[in-house]
Amino acid sequence: MVKKRLMESKKCFCDTGLSFNACCGLYLEQNQKAPTALALMRSRYSAYATHNADYLLETTHVSERQYYSKTEILKWATSNQWQKLEILSSSEDTVEFKAYFLNADRQPQTHYEFSTFRFEKEGWFYVDGKFE
Ligand SMILES: [Zn+2]
Repeated sequence: MVKKRLMESKKCFCDTGLSFNACCGLYLEQNQKAPTALALMRSRYSAYATHNADYLLETTHVSERQYYSKTEILKWATSNQWQKLEILSSSEDTVEFKAYFLNADRQPQTHYEFSTFRFEKEGWFYVDGKFE
């Protein structure tokens, strides 16, 4: 019981203000499918914060998966400290965002991306992104 209460009170990484269990935890830990591109994008940010490379690969569209390696994803996820996600705009299948993090040298960095998503069969997938 104590453990459950602690889990519920943990705020989600993606800055919705919801608890992790009621937010990205549904997709990262309870196998639910993110219902929108925006929810998927938020959960992918939380996957970086929790070093969940498997989830990041699984939610990358199959046509793009060859360009990613689990080792590289894990390296990027763990070498940075993920601080904040800011959604700038979103549509049904795009999300524009900034992710704030400290790099390995503890320098503050911002990752800007305009991401495209695709709904296929059972859920949403990340296709690719434009960077500034
Ligand atoms: Zn979340």
